[in-house]
Amino acid sequence: MAFKAIFSPKFLEHDPSPYNPEVPERLRKTLSYLKEREDIEIVKPENIKDSDILLVHSSEYIKNLKFVRSVEFLSPDTPVFENTYDIAKLACGAVYTAIRIAKERPLVLSRPPGHHAGKDYGSGFCYLNDVGVAITKYLQDKNARFAIVDYDAHYGQGTAEIFYENTNVLYISLHQDPATLYPGVGFVNEIGKGEGRGFNIPIPLPPYASDNSYDKAVEEIVMPILSEFKPDYLILYVGADAHARDPLANLMLSITCYVKIANKLSKLCKKVFAVMAGGYDLEVLPKVMHATLLAMNDIEIAYDKPFSDEKRVLKRTEKVLAECRETLEEFWSL
Ligand SMILES: [Zn+2]
Repeated sequence: MAFKAIFSPKFLEHDPSPYNPEVPERLRKTLSYLKEREDIEIVKPENIKDSDILLVHSSEYIKNLKFVRSVEFLSPDTPVFENTYDIAKLACGAVYTAIRIAKERPLVLSRPPGHHAGKDYGSGFCYLNDVGVAITKYLQDKNARFAIVDYDAHYGQGTAEIFYENTNVLYISLHQDPATLYPGVGFVNEIGKGEGRGFNIPIPLPPYASDNSYDKAVEEIVMPILSEFKPDYLILYVGADAHARDPLANLMLSITCYVKIANKLSKLCKKVFAVMAGGYDLEVLPKVMHATLLAMNDIEIAYDKPFSDEKRVLKRTEKVLAECRETLEEFWSL
């Protein structure tokens, strides 16, 4: 069976080393790992327009990105080069392409990532909000309900901000407690604004949370809400940085847990695709993306043994999930 991956060699040209670990090697290794094991059909991302980017980002911010002569910095870990804007724009196009072929359950292999980019800022290795731009462009002339489940170790504050008042886009994020990790926001009570209240769902898990914590969060919060929301499109925003071996975060997931999450969630919607987000261990990242691609297409493979949470950590998770339920019960049957 051939699997579709949306990829362009341009995504390898963005090279922020030595300023941060979001290096081209991450994608190069992932792609070759996939190609060695599966029949992968590469789909080229479509070029979207500047006017599409402006649906989400401010013109002043775009000017800052576009007209860089040599390196400038949005933040110490987010350097801008001459080609940054064009490559980040193509990454938005890649997600847009995925929406169009979502029935075939493709994997978006793009970089730089997008979920930390807000309307007028970039940060945390992100410049343009790939998912934010793609969904907003799509919703311009079509009506659909999108659910994004972001299980990168970090909360996607940019994506949350873009859809904070939107009822067509449900954003659910499982991430490490922001009191202990960048970006410092993404607490239980940040549930959206106005009409959009209840459609932004942060689930901040304690440091060292492992498979049992994620299983519980998925079963008790994510799945019931998704089943009730009934999205037309489901986007899995997959960060391998929640894996136990990742050097940037303090979560303890096994690859088997990633398999389980992708498998359970993708059963809830016909049109599903996954986007590669963070993940900085170069051995783990390709395996997580491979496992996700297969699980999303209903093939489960064994990777490693599931990990267990330490008792105190699991207790802390249960407390967080109770807080989530209490905050969200006026919007969803939990
Ligand atoms: Zn991350």
